[in-house]
Amino acid sequence: MKKHNFSAGPAILPATVMEQASQAALDFNGMGLSILEISHRSPEFTAVLNEAEVLVRDIAGLSDDYAVLFLQGGASSQFFMTAMNLLDEHEMAAYADTGSWSAKAIKEARNFGKVEVVASSKEQNYTFIPKGYEVPANAKYFHLTSNNTIFGTQYHKWPETPVPLVADMSSDIFSRPIDMERFGLIYAGAQKNIGPAGLTLVIVRPDILGKVSRTIPTMLDYRTHIAKKSTFNTPPVFPIYVAMLTFRWIKANGGLPAMATRNAAKAQLLYQEVDANPLFTGIVTDKADRSQMNATFVMAPGKEELQGAFLDMCKEAGCIGVKGHRSVGGFRASMYNAMDIESVQVLVDVMKGFAEKYG
Ligand SMILES: *Cc1c(COP(=O)(O)O)cnc(C)c1O
Repeated sequence: MKKHNFSAGPAILPATVMEQASQAALDFNGMGLSILEISHRSPEFTAVLNEAEVLVRDIAGLSDDYAVLFLQGGASSQFFMTAMNLLDEHEMAAYADTGSWSAKAIKEARNFGKVEVVASSKEQNYTFIPKGYEVPANAKYFHLTSNNTIFGTQYHKWPETPVPLVADMSSDIFSRPIDMERFGLIYAGAQKNIGPAGLTLVIVRPDILGKVSRTIPTMLDYRTHIAKKSTFNTPPVFPIYVAMLTFRWIKANGGLPAMATRNAAKAQLLYQEVDANPLFTGIVTDKADRSQMNATFVMAPGKEELQGAFLDMCKEAGCIGVKGHRSVGGFRASMYNAMDIESVQVLVDVMKGFAEKYG
């Protein structure tokens, strides 16, 4: 039976990408060698790396003012690397606390300088995106998490700030056009919308670097990777190859405007059912803040004991990964770029069938 993969990450990738990646694992471009066993300095891999960068620039509409880096260590390493590279000990950075990932970024940044949390939805269990706050002009940057993977909220409008934005876009990068000029740095773990785990994409404006007084270990200094074009050491060859295939897929399918249209249609289909179905209720209090990538919902009040039965029904229909994160409970349907609307329709039909049986 076809599986509909609603996992939050590592997550669904386009089927064509998976087929090409499998082929390259056996014989890459007719070399008689696997992509897994060739040098990261070979002309063949250099071409992959170059194409991946060109595609990122093309898809995101990047000017030459930005550098594109393919790093390791996950988004979690960016929590400290951003602060280590951008924030001096006596300086201050402003942060928004909109979920577990934001909170982790804040904790790590505090090791390097002062952090002011200027906006937070923590007291309301992260059920909305804060609005109507000021970012102080003396902040070095303002850090936000564009999509809160666990709680199911997403910025649909960027805050006006007098300082550059630094964004964790791990779970919604390339799901919609990016207003790049507002950002000094964007980072994203690959395993949600880009490719396999083990790769972290960083887009950075080099003019914001080199302004802190501390010594930065070579590997953790963005300038190292800019100067060496992501090959200071062995980069994650296979994840970069798969990411490049995904970028090709995004471009061939209409780029970010088309991704946005596709993602909006999927999200609308699912949320419409969450709102209409008497057995379910959404947990994001301000509907305008709902994530188009990760839809969170729970059993309606008084129906909590039906949770297991719903998950069983999802499984029977081939819908995988619908169980909510342990800190939220209930359900989470992740609908990243690669998911077709047909899969969302299958889940919606399960929800309807569930209400008929138990409603
Ligand atoms: C998954 C996720 C992370 C963690 O990514 P790792 O690559 O596992 O370190 C960080 N931020 C957000 C928004 C995420 O969705």
